[in-house]
Amino acid sequence: MRILITGAAGFLGSHLCERLLLEGHEVIGVDDFSSGQPRNIALLSQHSRFHFIKADASKPLSVEGSLDWVMHFASPASPPRYLKLPLETLLVNGEGTRHLLDLAVEKGARFFLASTSEIYGDPLVHPQPETYWGNVNSIGPRSIYDESKRYAETLTTAYQQAKGVSTRIIRIFNTYGPRMDAEDGRVVTNFIVQALRGEPLTIYGTGSQTRSFQYVDDLIEGIRRLMDVEYHQPVNLGNPEEYTMLQLAKLIQELVGSKTPFTYQPLPQDDPRQRRPDIRRAKELLGWEPKVPVREGLARTIAYFRGLLDEALPQEIQP
Ligand code: UDP
Repeated sequence: MRILITGAAGFLGSHLCERLLLEGHEVIGVDDFSSGQPRNIALLSQHSRFHFIKADASKPLSVEGSLDWVMHFASPASPPRYLKLPLETLLVNGEGTRHLLDLAVEKGARFFLASTSEIYGDPLVHPQPETYWGNVNSIGPRSIYDESKRYAETLTTAYQQAKGVSTRIIRIFNTYGPRMDAEDGRVVTNFIVQALRGEPLTIYGTGSQTRSFQYVDDLIEGIRRLMDVEYHQPVNLGNPEEYTMLQLAKLIQELVGSKTPFTYQPLPQDDPRQRRPDIRRAKELLGWEPKVPVREGLARTIAYFRGLLDEALPQEIQP
């Protein structure tokens, strides 16, 4: 197949490109490096079937030749990143989704939207099934991301219904693994990098809020299976293993073998108190469930960041 993937230099986009390249497909990656990392494109460029377009995915793209899939993964995704890029985030999920849906219509391609568990907001139903409509503050700080992804889901559904585009929508729950951006302020990377550097772990609020953490390979497998099924409703992809942030901090300390203290910082506004996917739909539809336990996935991720920090060290101490 010939597949266009926006956000190819990002954490999830680069893993998805790699998987599809390894299966023998031709992949056209799009990124403007506003939150993606050039090192990920350097890695993908080793494949002869990978082509790169440096472009802003919120603007119309002209692509030569046929396309079987348009997969939209471009967007700042960590709260600090999308708060720094509010209009860009709204545009890539709003205008970007619209232009990419138009591209799918033009090429007769299928369309795949990377949506998010953030569309559930601060959920009052727990765990969250796809049928839950969510609890979102439409003008709160997180609305830039939440509401633009909600709009992207609406657009995708409208194109499916009005124009007959074969669409897929996934709601991605907190995902971690190698190639995450250490600087993007997410809890997993913050804790791992802090523990490796012997710095205090920054707990926001009391640390009693929960998240459920999925290893990236499990997510990619779920995406791959959904591509082969004609199904247009949203599908949750996440690992139901749920942790408080304090439990996560202790687990990461244990796995790193570090005993640095915790430092408590204010809880960001509208920070969801709990989050855990109900994955019955993915199980029934795709025969999918996460395979990598959090402990094992974190150990792999810690090994990756240990390697990165070791690499960075000699350069930092050079005069
Ligand atoms: N968090 C934390 N310390 C950090 C970074 C984040 O305690 O250094 C908390 C944050 O307040 C939230 C949870 O960890 O409750 C997950 O944050 P993240 O930004 O990774 O993802 P999201 O809030 O989008 O699920």
